[in-house]
Amino acid sequence: MSDCIFCKIAAGEIPATVVYQDEEMLVFEDISPKAPLHLLLIPKQHMATLNEAGPEQAQLLGRLILKAGELAEEKGVSQGGYRVQINCNPDGGQVVFHLHVHLMGGRKLECLT
Ligand code: AMP
Ligand code: ZN
Repeated sequence: MSDCIFCKIAAGEIPATVVYQDEEMLVFEDISPKAPLHLLLIPKQHMATLNEAGPEQAQLLGRLILKAGELAEEKGVSQGGYRVQINCNPDGGQVVFHLHVHLMGGRKLECLT
């Protein structure tokens, strides 16, 4: 997707502070952090929302969530606690339409539920 900002980050065309990457995923710092730790984990392959994911993406989605847990541990927030969140479409608060997983921690996060 040529006009997708996260595809551009994945292609190295827009700078980001990358904390991890492999063949299928990229993790970078959120440009406008809502918590002391705020990372975004994305599949390198474009997928607009969680609605586009199917069984073929099961392993990748699982890896993204497990990687969020690993990074929480690595960044020292796993004991205090953290949040792993996927926003889907406008009612879910999604603004960037390339599937991403938020990892937030380092402060007490307010609950919606
Ligand atoms: P969402 O509301 O779930 O779509 O979240 C999009 C997130 O992307 C927000 O937390 C933004 O701060 C973040 N964001 C937008 N542009 C960039 C960028 N160029 N680099 C890093 N994070 C970004
Ligand atoms: Zn994209």
